[in-house]
Amino acid sequence: MIALKKYIIPVSLLLIILFWLVRWQPDRHDVHTTTQLAMGTLVSLSVWGTKPENEEKVFAAVFEKIRQLEAVASRQDVNSIVYRINHAPSGEKFTIPSELTHIVAKGLQVHLLSGGAFDPGLAHISDLWGFTQGVPEVEKIPEKRLIDAWLEKRKQCFDYGIHLKLPDNDSDGPGLLWLADDSFALDLGAIAKGYILDQAMAVLKREGIINALIVGGGDMIIAGAKGDQPWRIGIQHPRDRDKVMASVEVLQDMALATSGDYERFFMADGQRQHHILDPKTGHPARSGLISVSIQAREAMIADALSTAVFVLGMEKGKALIERLEGVEGMLVQENGERWKSSRFPGQWLEE
Ligand code: FAD
Ligand code: MG
Repeated sequence: MIALKKYIIPVSLLLIILFWLVRWQPDRHDVHTTTQLAMGTLVSLSVWGTKPENEEKVFAAVFEKIRQLEAVASRQDVNSIVYRINHAPSGEKFTIPSELTHIVAKGLQVHLLSGGAFDPGLAHISDLWGFTQGVPEVEKIPEKRLIDAWLEKRKQCFDYGIHLKLPDNDSDGPGLLWLADDSFALDLGAIAKGYILDQAMAVLKREGIINALIVGGGDMIIAGAKGDQPWRIGIQHPRDRDKVMASVEVLQDMALATSGDYERFFMADGQRQHHILDPKTGHPARSGLISVSIQAREAMIADALSTAVFVLGMEKGKALIERLEGVEGMLVQENGERWKSSRFPGQWLEE
């Protein structure tokens, strides 16, 4: 039942997206889709205008890539290097594969850009809340003393505890990583999924496919169009699972990621206890925002920024989006207030 429960919301989100894709596609027979479970969510590939006889082989190659990278970046997989790093004594140095080096380097950049709102080292606090595997088995707010102890340890740290030494000359090579304090443990759940979708799209492109859409939970990467038709995406209403809040028409390569408090959460103390955590409080972020969609060139960046902006809130989030070139956003607050940046490619569907 728990296994089923943890997929219900990602599944509903995916179904909304697929429903829109199918409903709006006049040429739907040319769109071929396949969906599999990966990274604790559903990943769906859609391609347009390819020969069906090639698709099976290409789809298999894409999922193989996804699983290969998941086995590197997952903190849930006991055989992954991230798991080993998180369970080693602090200070132990690890040579990490180039893919992981890239993800952690970008994660650290977004950490700085967001003034610490994005924190790829908060696995311990995420575990305390029980968001390691979907929603927790016991839906309970962690003991205050445990959260306070984590915050106190963090306060004692002179600087941020994830240390990464990049390769000297080859920026694509393996890096050296160590955690300086045991209040730090890698949680790449808000960035690695985006990176993996980017790499999945790269596999499709290498296979000569130029019109495709890959969706994983709230993240997606889009290439090309459907002939002269755009890809059309629906963004789910954060408080009404059956409602599409906004639509986005895509005619060119781009990535879109949505972070919300409605995907992984439980109710306790009359509040929604969700999986996007504020590193300053050790509690679910209460910035007033309930849904953040970010458009960027790479899904990795869109993924990380959607989480960062969610934590930062409307004003600081807007300022960050407006500061970054090639990044657009659509933000919704609990009180109904909403905003989208001038070049965000989507439209609200309701008042
Ligand atoms: P996002 O907003 O993109 O990310 C939220 C997630 O990021 C949280 O769940 C937490 O992990 C982390 N986070 C919370 N607050 C912050 C913050 N302030 N800064 C940075 N990060 C933060 N889930 C499972 O249930 N089972 C699995 O086996 C599993 N395997 C995975 C393997 C990989 C390689 C990856 C990348 C993820 C895996 N996940 C798994 C997690 C899952 O796919 C998503 O990460 C999770 O659903 C949240 O993603 P999101 O896009 O909904 O939210
Ligand atoms: Mg994210």
